[in-house]
Amino acid sequence: MKFGGSSLSGPAGVAYVANLISNYKPPKQPIVIVSALQGVTDLLLEAAKPTPESYALFTNLSQLHLTIARQLCLEPHIIESISPLLNGLCLALPSHDSDLIVSFGERLSSILVAGACNNQGIKAEPISTLDLLITTKRSDRPSRILYSESRSKVVTTLEPLLRDGATPILTGFIARTKEGEVTTLGRGGSDLTAVYIGDFLGADEVTLFKDEAGVFDADPKINPEAKLLAHLTYQEAE
Ligand code: ASP
Ligand code: MG
Repeated sequence: MKFGGSSLSGPAGVAYVANLISNYKPPKQPIVIVSALQGVTDLLLEAAKPTPESYALFTNLSQLHLTIARQLCLEPHIIESISPLLNGLCLALPSHDSDLIVSFGERLSSILVAGACNNQGIKAEPISTLDLLITTKRSDRPSRILYSESRSKVVTTLEPLLRDGATPILTGFIARTKEGEVTTLGRGGSDLTAVYIGDFLGADEVTLFKDEAGVFDADPKINPEAKLLAHLTYQEAE
């Protein structure tokens, strides 16, 4: 199950996502991939620029995540795990390393979604794909995921959790180069994370939850006449 930023808007959005996850009962075993909360990737990219607004943006982002955590009444240990990440983000700002800075969006959202799932009685575990997915290069150069290396890390990390009945809540979008630098899979890359993880684990299906009813023949946000397509071949999708 992959949820993008449009699903993760405010405490109500995060709680709704946790509720959808809770509907998947055994023998179905969900594996969840999340994007950053709505608008957060754009704000982080702005904060990564050498601008005097960086720290004001950081304050807003900190408040946004902490407020949602409190509004959702997450367990104290979950709320405590947010602060070290916010500190890490603050320390990363002077580097202006946009891949590193933007990676905090998904790391923070996966904690909030896991916490909201815990409140619904789901044994959810936030997992950072920084330790699982390896790419050839950083995101500013043509790059690809190293298939067998990444697959073996994903399988060894996730299979014991799944055997234990836990629901992994994975960060979309973020990875590391083989040299160990933080990188991303490019804007909108969480969909790509979801299909890789589904493939690595032999999932029965990969569902990308969207705020639209399906695939249209044009962008329905721009063109009100856009038509919903009932069927799509692999070739047309490509
Ligand atoms: N958060 C990232 C973005 O906004 C990745 C994604 O949403 O898939 O591009
Ligand atoms: Mg997004």
